[in-house]
Amino acid sequence: MLGGLGLDGPAGGVQCSRAGCAETAVHAVHWRNPKIHGLERVKTWSACDEHVGFLAEFLRARDFPVVVTPVDETVERVVPEEAR
Ligand SMILES: [Zn+2]
Repeated sequence: MLGGLGLDGPAGGVQCSRAGCAETAVHAVHWRNPKIHGLERVKTWSACDEHVGFLAEFLRARDFPVVVTPVDETVERVVPEEAR
């Protein structure tokens, strides 16, 4: 699905998605832009401990639904928190 990016390869470390950060990601930040993505669409950023809060807040500030999990977990949907 993400052809060529190597994000779904075997363990060995995924780099944090924050620009300029070379830390190994330990969190996954799943999100969706409700204006352009359907409910079944999930975008995922990887984040180190330091930047997981930054990345999640960046998305929440845009009113995007966000779900944070350990880096090796996936979610089927990103549902707005107020809808749970
Ligand atoms: Zn980072």
